[in-house]
Amino acid sequence: MATSLDSHDQPKGPASNPGNPSLRHGGPTDIAVRLEGVRKVFGDDAAGRRVARLIDSGGAAPIVAVDSVDLEVRDGEFFSMLGPSGSGKTTTLRMIAGFELPTAGRILLHGEDVTAVPPYDRDVNTVFQDYALFPHMTVGDNVAYGLVVRKVPKGERQDRVTDALRMVRLEGYEDRKPGQLSGGQRQRVALARALVNRPRVLLLDEPLGALDLKLREEMQIELKSIQQQVGITFIYVTHDQQEALTMSDRLAVFNQGRIEQLGSPADVYEHPATRFVAGFVGTSNLLTGDVAHAILGRRGSFTIRPEKIHLGEPSDQAGDDETAALGRIRDVVYLGPDTRYIVELDAGARLVVTQQNLATTSGEALAQQGNAVRLVWKRQHELAVSDGESGPMEEEGQG
Ligand code: ATP
Repeated sequence: MATSLDSHDQPKGPASNPGNPSLRHGGPTDIAVRLEGVRKVFGDDAAGRRVARLIDSGGAAPIVAVDSVDLEVRDGEFFSMLGPSGSGKTTTLRMIAGFELPTAGRILLHGEDVTAVPPYDRDVNTVFQDYALFPHMTVGDNVAYGLVVRKVPKGERQDRVTDALRMVRLEGYEDRKPGQLSGGQRQRVALARALVNRPRVLLLDEPLGALDLKLREEMQIELKSIQQQVGITFIYVTHDQQEALTMSDRLAVFNQGRIEQLGSPADVYEHPATRFVAGFVGTSNLLTGDVAHAILGRRGSFTIRPEKIHLGEPSDQAGDDETAALGRIRDVVYLGPDTRYIVELDAGARLVVTQQNLATTSGEALAQQGNAVRLVWKRQHELAVSDGESGPMEEEGQG
């Protein structure tokens, strides 16, 4: 059943999810989604694949898209899966939705094992980047579609569609066609169409990816406030670190099919566990090996966030709780509110320093290129990072 289910097909029937009342009473748990040892290998499990997307491995080795992921998403939280292209986040989302079967492991929704349950019997809905709206239907009919499939009476349907459109600030747009809307409005219709079904978990796969930066930033704030309003668990896939930091209660950083770190935005940004996380969620600014020893008096790998570094004169002195390093400004990138200085340290490494342009003009900032400087930072901002073999870490809070 549902062998041809794909993102483009989603509204065509059961995939729009009538929900399963039995799952609503799956027992008391504050864990909305639990993944236990979930693994997905493409190329050697064609029979187990639920999607229509055909792959031809051409005899190539199987691809391990998701590699033994353990994960708990709490009820009512905004949880993001962040990572570079190909790191396995969409595949993980699709397994939670039921569009892909795991090669190994279990998926539980509110305590109930749904690993083998088809998508339309899971109490989840998915919002895709490409909206997947019916172009020939009005906004109202698009939003009502899941309710029609579930045979919800007309009066109730109308009320719920009105509520859902109000939630996404599209009251009065019922009679328009998707083609008469902007990208941001289309995305809001897609969101209303998912919310109208009142799923307990909403899965969002890069839903803002097609929008321009300004609209994306506005929608990030809106999405977060809608999530808080409805209290539904949101699981959000993105490769945009800013987006994940802005919206999430917690996030998981994916790398090569594994979770490299899991925690709150502040934990992950201020205490990156690995070199990969330090570089992906922010600027890597690494000091390693002999350079680390020369500057910090310690061996290992360390990262210092660019905004924690003070750019001063070579004669500036460091306090007892500070570290200093001499260098020269190689490049200056003026960004309006702040400026990025790329500094080549005498000891050998290169660090990026961000300074707010409180009293600096663009001319003054750019004129600093080539200057000798002394960088100073608090020792507490020297963060030790591992090389990434240690597996996922949650809310370590190590300094
Ligand atoms: P993106 O941000 O580019 O969507 P992602 O982190 O979501 O990336 P996935 O789409 O989950 O990554 O892909 C993980 C790996 O699995 C990649 O190497 C990808 O090429 C592979 N993969 C995904 N879907 C299939 C498929 N249907 N057949 C074969 N390989 C696949």
